[in-house]
Amino acid sequence: LTDRLQSAMKKLRKKGKISEADVKEMMREIRLALLEADVNLQVVKEFTKNVRERAVGSEVLDSLSPAQQIVKIVNEELTKTLGSEAVGLNKAPKIPTVIMMVGLQGAGKTTFAGKLANHLIKNEDARPMMIAGDVYRPAAIDQLKVLGQQLSVPVFDMGTDTDPVEIVRQGMQQAHEKKNDYVLIDTAGRLHVDETLMQELQNIKDVAQPNEILLVVDAMTGQDAVNVAESFNEQLGISGVVITKLDGDTRGGAALSIRSVTGAPIKFTGTGEKLSDLEVFHPDRMSSRILGMGDMLTLIEKAQQDYDEQKAEEMAEKMRENTFDFNDFIDQMDQLSGMGSMEDIMKMIPGMNQMPGIENMQIDPKDIERKKAMVYSMTPAEREDPDLLNPSRRRRIAAGSGNSTIEVNRMIKQFKESRKMMQQMSKGNMDNIPGMEQM
Ligand code: GDP
Ligand code: MG
Repeated sequence: LTDRLQSAMKKLRKKGKISEADVKEMMREIRLALLEADVNLQVVKEFTKNVRERAVGSEVLDSLSPAQQIVKIVNEELTKTLGSEAVGLNKAPKIPTVIMMVGLQGAGKTTFAGKLANHLIKNEDARPMMIAGDVYRPAAIDQLKVLGQQLSVPVFDMGTDTDPVEIVRQGMQQAHEKKNDYVLIDTAGRLHVDETLMQELQNIKDVAQPNEILLVVDAMTGQDAVNVAESFNEQLGISGVVITKLDGDTRGGAALSIRSVTGAPIKFTGTGEKLSDLEVFHPDRMSSRILGMGDMLTLIEKAQQDYDEQKAEEMAEKMRENTFDFNDFIDQMDQLSGMGSMEDIMKMIPGMNQMPGIENMQIDPKDIERKKAMVYSMTPAEREDPDLLNPSRRRRIAAGSGNSTIEVNRMIKQFKESRKMMQQMSKGNMDNIPGMEQM
């Protein structure tokens, strides 16, 4: 996918205004990208139409190529379609807030009930209760009870012989008595949507009067997810969506389809089997995921975490004063090696694997040690003023550090490139960094 987008983008570089033909070509790629991500065809058509209208004739911003700009528009529109902002749970004015999980068998309802209870306890110090409303499989009740034990959350159950509607009625009563602030109702699913299931859920809804009916959908359901979401929404009315199993490599296009078809906001995503594998939904991240653009946010966060902010501040100051020297170079390399493999980091940036010189940016600890040795073989004056490094000084440094002059020259060249890049970044200008124009 990314390859496909990139080749389309290459053709589009360096133009002033986005033409209809540009957009047409890009949109074909994006349509394929969305279909590959399992977005429903009807939704794709609608979506690409909106983007085309916005993109044709729009001015190309100085800092972007037409292709980048189209991707930017696509990304923005996608984020907008997915809901722009994270939406929290609907709360009841008076406790308890009642949340009912619905969805097909195996979608992850029971697991999500446990994850949500955990989330509420962690974030709100909540006292939730769970109701075991799936009576068709004894294992389903046990599964919820085990989760309840792990979390010290009470689970209301009446075995498999009672009508689930009656179980919910009595469970609600108990929650009122015990003053639980949340009631999470786990319900049964089927392999396909059917009348009996819907009627039962409708009856539970009437009894429980839930503040939220969350449709739990397996991200891997793909195209089928739309039909499922449509039926549940028509017959029951859903207030939110939970997409589970996003820990796999599914692109999560189902999220876009479901959001478009039902209009219900996506509230959470499940990213693994553990109780803590729950994330509040972020439309912008999902958008990059669907487009296959690499998770830029994750990348930025990772870099920020590991990068010593104060050092960065000092470095920026030096850049402004134009005094980046070999001592800073060493600092910079140490910081980079603290960020883990540069290769891993670079892989997260779309287009980066094609960046010329990327192989020089890979961090090899031995290589860093070697470079440090060369810098340490310099006099303090040389470290501060690279222009002093004439051929005879370079030979001395090579001999002193046990390297060849070729290696010393290469290191100095890298230092100069690094200095140039830092200067450009400190001016807030990323365009001139080699490789960036390909994005
Ligand atoms: P239910 O039938 O809708 O209640 O589905 P379950 O909660 O029993 O989940 C079905 C299977 O999916 C179980 O094996 C879960 O461990 C697994 N599962 C649920 N959510 C996730 C998730 O976010 N990621 C992964 N990898 N597995 C999940
Ligand atoms: Mg279940």
